[in-house]
Amino acid sequence: MNPLHLFSRRKFIRTISTVAGALAWGPSISALAACSQKPGNKLGIALVGLGGYSKGQLAPALQQTEHCYLAGLVSGSPQKAKDWAKQYNVPEKNIYNYQNFDEIKNNPDIDIVYVVLPVAMHKEYTIRAAQASKHVICEKPMALNAHDCQEMIDACKKANKMLSIGYRLHFDPRHQEVMRLGQKEELGKLTAFEAANGFTWGNNTTWRLKKALAGGGSLMDMGVYTIQAARYTFGKEPIAVTARQEKTRPAIFSEVDETVYFDLEFPGGVIAHCKSSYNNNWSSMKATAERGTFELAPAYGYDGLQGKVNQKPMPFPPINQQAAQMDDFAQCVALNKLTRVAGDEGFKDMKVIDAIYRSLDNNGRRETI
Ligand code: NAD
Repeated sequence: MNPLHLFSRRKFIRTISTVAGALAWGPSISALAACSQKPGNKLGIALVGLGGYSKGQLAPALQQTEHCYLAGLVSGSPQKAKDWAKQYNVPEKNIYNYQNFDEIKNNPDIDIVYVVLPVAMHKEYTIRAAQASKHVICEKPMALNAHDCQEMIDACKKANKMLSIGYRLHFDPRHQEVMRLGQKEELGKLTAFEAANGFTWGNNTTWRLKKALAGGGSLMDMGVYTIQAARYTFGKEPIAVTARQEKTRPAIFSEVDETVYFDLEFPGGVIAHCKSSYNNNWSSMKATAERGTFELAPAYGYDGLQGKVNQKPMPFPPINQQAAQMDDFAQCVALNKLTRVAGDEGFKDMKVIDAIYRSLDNNGRRETI
């Protein structure tokens, strides 16, 4: 079977380089055969955790995807699962709960499990999914710490399954442009970088405020995007960090951080000044290079992102980031090609986050990564 038949004409041009790469790799016959058995050649995705992100973004995006579809649901609430199944036309046999989740192994409709649970549950469900012989997308932040990330990577490798992290911004053309400008040094070498991400927390109480479930606060939830932005703008790994934090509402943020200021030291000595917050509406990144600047603001939302290069607007059209992200992973699975947001991306971010928390614990001491 010619793998190009898997693509619509519309997507052909956009994915030609992907396909060329895949052909060079040689897609496995079994992967392509499995793909051809799916309705419309789409791979089946099961969402694990039907909370805010699944409901507001992923399930709607799966109505727009070309290479995958919403095939299964995993929920602790039978009524919620039933309602979702009705809304999205998911057969009852493809509904699981957290107890019988492992039986998903026997369900050929499901190719990919997408873990959309509180952070502390990412490791368990990623490993169980891999052991059930499913490819995995795991939401950010990948896990509670880098050690757990490594276990997840190892489990997927052992099961010979692909692992991807839900880093949707890698599929937004504005962030791709930032990567290109920074990594190719289009405006010369980077001389400065700053990034901020946050929102103002109300008074609601959720797992995000519980250290055992969230691992941390704004740094884990929002700061991870600024770490990503710094890493993919420089195209290098930071070597050390310093950090400090601020709490204006210690009663609400008794277990997790509220606002964190952290500096990432890159090889060559350029510092990325980053900050995350549950007390400020921030969404920006700006890189200064020898011959100008490039920046995004808002930078990290689902839509409405605006970019400028030397003050001139970036020309890119809107995109459904989540649909692009899931379609890309489905193509990686179908064509046996590496995902650009593999588990290693999450692992590297968590190594930085671990070092930032060590710095906070040690009064802002410089911590190597
Ligand atoms: P949420 O609180 O809205 O949903 C969490 C889901 O997990 C709920 O369905 C809940 O019932 C279920 N759950 C199972 N066991 C639970 C437990 N012990 N405690 C609490 N909930 C439990 O959260 P969310 O906003 O959907 O976030 C889920 C994951 O998605 C997180 O990792 C988050 O960081 C990530 N996320 C990513 C993005 C993104 O842009 N990539 C956006 C939002 C959330």
